[in-house]
Amino acid sequence: MFILKGIEQLEKAIAKAKKIRPRVEFDHFGRYRVSGSKGYYTVICRKDERGIKTVACTCKGVEKGLVCYHSAAALSLHIGLAKQRQTA
Ligand SMILES: [Zn+2]
Repeated sequence: MFILKGIEQLEKAIAKAKKIRPRVEFDHFGRYRVSGSKGYYTVICRKDERGIKTVACTCKGVEKGLVCYHSAAALSLHIGLAKQRQTA
């Protein structure tokens, strides 16, 4: 799990996601399944009561504190949905 501080943090992972183009499946708001090299990973995007955004992925990279491309791919969908909810 990592704390999302800004989009700069995601740049490399976004570039990788654009290259790999994983499938992102919507589970429910804040929860997504992203295809990876060994099947699907679950990505959870959360915002706590203090407004701190965290992203968790079930892959190995995130355990080491890396921002994986699964997270980046899920986040791009999540951010779009979050905007829609705010304006709805
Ligand atoms: Zn991942």
